[in-house]
Amino acid sequence: MRLLFTLTALVYNTAAIQYPLSFLSSNNDPALSINSFIDNLSQDLSDFEISSLNDNDIAYYKQIEPSNWPIDLEQYSTDFVIRLFDWIDTDDDIPFYQSTLSLIKEQQNIKIWDSSLASKFIDIQLNKDMAQYLLTELSSQYKFNYKLLLNNLPQTIFETYPQSQLSSLEEEENDDFITNSELFFKTYRDIDSIYAWFDLLVNTYPDILSIEYIGNTFEGRPMKALRLSVHSDSKSNEIKTVVITGGIHAREWISVSTTCYILFQLLQDYENGKVSVIRYLENLDFLFLPLMNPDGYTYTWTNERLWRKNKQQTFNPRCQGIDIDHSFDFHFTSGIESPCSDDYPGESVFEALESYNWDNYLNETKHSHPIYAYIDLHSYAQEVLYPYAYSCDILPRDEENLLELAYGLSQSIRLKSGKYYQIFKACQDKGADLLPSMGSGSALDYMYHNKAYWAFVLKLRDSGTHGFLLPSKYITPVGKEIYSSIKYFAAFLLSDK
Ligand SMILES: [Zn+2]
Repeated sequence: MRLLFTLTALVYNTAAIQYPLSFLSSNNDPALSINSFIDNLSQDLSDFEISSLNDNDIAYYKQIEPSNWPIDLEQYSTDFVIRLFDWIDTDDDIPFYQSTLSLIKEQQNIKIWDSSLASKFIDIQLNKDMAQYLLTELSSQYKFNYKLLLNNLPQTIFETYPQSQLSSLEEEENDDFITNSELFFKTYRDIDSIYAWFDLLVNTYPDILSIEYIGNTFEGRPMKALRLSVHSDSKSNEIKTVVITGGIHAREWISVSTTCYILFQLLQDYENGKVSVIRYLENLDFLFLPLMNPDGYTYTWTNERLWRKNKQQTFNPRCQGIDIDHSFDFHFTSGIESPCSDDYPGESVFEALESYNWDNYLNETKHSHPIYAYIDLHSYAQEVLYPYAYSCDILPRDEENLLELAYGLSQSIRLKSGKYYQIFKACQDKGADLLPSMGSGSALDYMYHNKAYWAFVLKLRDSGTHGFLLPSKYITPVGKEIYSSIKYFAAFLLSDK
């Protein structure tokens, strides 16, 4: 009887949450439908839901002593993630995308997760009161759809941290590379485990793999890259390098694990004598920087799972962090975003130590290791983005081939896993023509303009179900589909040369 009751309640909740637009478009009083949407937001799991969690060996965070939580989960206890989508713009109004992002940026307690003008969605984290305020405000002027993405943020966050049985590599006696790496990809890993894995890799493959020291962060952590090069040093200035980076945004954990996974698969296939991979590695070098933002990444493991920027001090003592991905020297803009904004670019070009160090390193090595191609991994939205990010008015060079390559990357993912990655110009995705600060100073444009002939951003899974909080069971599937696109990329680069 009890089960039946909770089940009915659940179905009722879901129905109410899933169809807000049908209320909005058919109801004469939009305030009523917003009210019922807000009323149905609840984070408390029913007994029914908790029992299904336990079946999967995942604990409910409230059943665990707070002192054993990975971070303070209570800080998320009033927040939800909702999606605004499929808006309709009329000619007389300021476009919905522009107006909504501007409105949100004025509010300290609404956070933008991801947004795309091209895909027409804006995902935001906020509490009930702010949801009421924002939806009421926007619906007085615009027609748009909205839905709940995440109703239990503390639990979803909790589930992204390693469960106790997988917590530490150091507990494992085994130093075999394959066994250890398979374990390594079972869960997300903190910086110490990742750097320990780097050491294991280099000890296993000392002849072809080396650790490159890029520089130190604001908090004194080293930025480390791995160079994979199968030829002698004397040939190194003739071989072009493919650069793959991840983790420029701290909370995008899947981009970090995927960068590591690509390296792991290349090494395995090379060792197993896979002919295509041997050909790629004999003709291309690879440089991997899985943790572009070590301080921010560490902070997501110790304090705030949803932190995005680095941890540098700004001129405002209350607000830390520069968005590294706005701090590069191609169409850099300052003065639009405040230091409290998640998109804060700093006051001057390369103020973020990570982009400064990276630029120095690339300049120092540009003759010995010329760069040819660049892929920057982010999450989420399942998109392949090509230059430019700062404006759609300027055509990128060789656009036809750039686009063909973008379609090839997407197709190779779809053939591998069935997942569809949409293709956009980065400026379309960011809405840079409406909001210029959204596309300024990006790593993509900087690399494309100054360093690499080909350059792309891949925004990895998913398309909004978990967002940044993609469960760790997807680390390997995402790694595999992106590895497949990297092999396509390498084959294209070799045929192009
Ligand atoms: Zn990102």
